[in-house]
Amino acid sequence: MDFRTRCARGTGAVSDIGRPLAPPIVTASTFEFRSQQDVESYYGEGRGWLYSRYENPTVRAAERFLADLEGSDDAALFSSGMAAVSTTVLALVRAGERVAVQREIYGGTVALFRDVLSRLSIETTWLGLDEIARLTPERLAGCRMLWLESPTNPALRIVDLRAAAAAASAAGALAVVDGTFATPALQRPLELGCDVVVHSGTKYLGGHSDVTAGAVAARSDLVAAIAASRRSLGGTADPFAAFLLQRGMRTLSVRMTAHEEGAAAVARFLEEHEKVRRVHWPGLATHPDHAIARRQMSGFGGMVSFEVEGGAAGAERVHDRLRLFVKAASLGGVESLVSIPSRMSHRGLDGPELERSGVTPGMLRLSVGLESPGDLVADLGEALG
Ligand code: PLP
Repeated sequence: MDFRTRCARGTGAVSDIGRPLAPPIVTASTFEFRSQQDVESYYGEGRGWLYSRYENPTVRAAERFLADLEGSDDAALFSSGMAAVSTTVLALVRAGERVAVQREIYGGTVALFRDVLSRLSIETTWLGLDEIARLTPERLAGCRMLWLESPTNPALRIVDLRAAAAAASAAGALAVVDGTFATPALQRPLELGCDVVVHSGTKYLGGHSDVTAGAVAARSDLVAAIAASRRSLGGTADPFAAFLLQRGMRTLSVRMTAHEEGAAAVARFLEEHEKVRRVHWPGLATHPDHAIARRQMSGFGGMVSFEVEGGAAGAERVHDRLRLFVKAASLGGVESLVSIPSRMSHRGLDGPELERSGVTPGMLRLSVGLESPGDLVADLGEALG
């Protein structure tokens, strides 16, 4: 079945009375057993439900849905994208082991490796995009995991996932990709040889700026290990969040198409504007990774960043003068958002770290929503003018 059909039809069969078209929200924190025999068959064969921190029917329905969209054996949901990121690393890497981490990634993930995992003796080797582009198994020798993000936040660079995953596999390392900006609608890293794909479900998967959630998808043994650590670490998704995520995923395919239509119009307008120094959108032929994006993605997504004349002051002026773009953190919702990455998503990074992450003071990041592209272009035109 086509991806768009799979989105629209979803799953949701958690009732034995008759299949509801939307999944019931099972709010119970705990589940009744009829006998100790039932308890034994839960532990022995995994039959039934025990406790919602472990698993929950509404959460499970959304997990099965995401696994179907990613083409993975299984998936696990979390209370946030960062719960998914941290639980994945803690489940698969031990103290004393090393993770090779792409430098240009979401600031929160940088902070996790730099400030938290380092205290647990999980060592980090930071790799620039140029190093990742010519990655060899030798460079990854001794690494348990390769942490990638593509497209990157906020500079929208693209990593050749097939090549990076092949190097990781030859080195005996797990290739993990944060695919938040692309979603399975545009990119399916597991099909390119990666081992795990991680998402902030808060963004496009939910799609309406009304849920905080995270997700991973992978083969069953990896999801089982990650879900086991999730029980201990406690970052389980709540059933209401799982319901909203599932509802969002049913329109994912059509939303991504519309986000991209808006992003293309905005990027082409900005590219021609005299006060704009650089536009970052992988769909532009001038984008350094356009060829890789064409090869490994089925679309270029709804995120656009650009650099204006006048540095930090110039960016602030444009930011403050935008009217239709909502000034807010996050991305992937129905409404268009604008932020200045150096002062929002990447605020915790020092000067050299910002530079290594591809963040400049004059950069603005747009999450192009579902408004008419003409209205968005007009808003940008007025703000820049
Ligand atoms: N990964 C990326 C690429 C992100 O942009 C974000 C948040 O902005 C996260 C992970 C973290 O997700 P959450 O805010 O849902 O914890």
